[in-house]
Amino acid sequence: MTNVLAVAEGAGTARPASPHMQETAEHVAAGGSPFDYVAPPDWFSFSSIDMFDRCPRQYALRYLCRLQVEPTRPAADFGSAAHATFEMFTRERRERLGRGQEPPDRADLVRFFEVAWATSQLAAEPDAETWRARAEPMLDRFWAVESVASTQTLSEETRFRLRLELDMETSVVVTGFIDRIDRVRSGAVELIDYKTGSPWSPEDIESSLQLSIYALGCRDALGLGRPERVTLDFVEHGLRFSAERSDAALDDVREGLGRRAREIRNSRFAPTPSSRACGWCDFAAFCSERASRA
Ligand code: SF4
Repeated sequence: MTNVLAVAEGAGTARPASPHMQETAEHVAAGGSPFDYVAPPDWFSFSSIDMFDRCPRQYALRYLCRLQVEPTRPAADFGSAAHATFEMFTRERRERLGRGQEPPDRADLVRFFEVAWATSQLAAEPDAETWRARAEPMLDRFWAVESVASTQTLSEETRFRLRLELDMETSVVVTGFIDRIDRVRSGAVELIDYKTGSPWSPEDIESSLQLSIYALGCRDALGLGRPERVTLDFVEHGLRFSAERSDAALDDVREGLGRRAREIRNSRFAPTPSSRACGWCDFAAFCSERASRA
């Protein structure tokens, strides 16, 4: 049987949340069911469902055995710093305007980025200057849009918890954080999700489950009604793409989420190795089923 902790320490990438979880992780890595140790999951998110779709065993190790991954990858750290910067900016603008003051300016935006940078691990990266240089055009593009924006930001990092009844006795929660909610001219809302990295294709945006879940959470959990549009803001490229979700489409998504929750709760978490999934898997070091990297 694989000793998860020993291998994880050797690899320096993952650790169990507790000794009990180490036992569970070893059991799962050997092909056992996590439900011999833990209860079926009662919450889901887009990220967890996405991981299950990539590889059920990866999902089980991350979300049921709760193996923690550290350190954070620089790209994820950069994304977090960007999100934190934009969140600070729109919150400050909302609060200042509420007090009848001038909104934050370009210098404030840079100041917010410096705060986010200081709380990230990026400064310790060997290519820290490359990451910092990457931020400059991103801030320029964000400022170019926001300095002339006429929409009103209602909230940042808004958490929703959508309860779904699976049967008479079982309910689960689908949860998520919406980066930004704006009030638009019609009086409805727009949901905005910031993305660092390369833009997606129009087809991927149109069919995005993530955007559908956010729109559903907005309508059925936050009580803000169906959003007029859901937008991905590829902040490094200055590109925004919006999609719409009809009420009928959201009803379908809600039903589909119930099906996915049942599927995951009934899964045996068999691994589905592929060069793509395993190449990015934080648990590949102790997974005997991993595919060789492409
Ligand atoms: S290494 Fe591959 S098969 Fe193993 S858990 Fe990760 S993604 Fe799944």
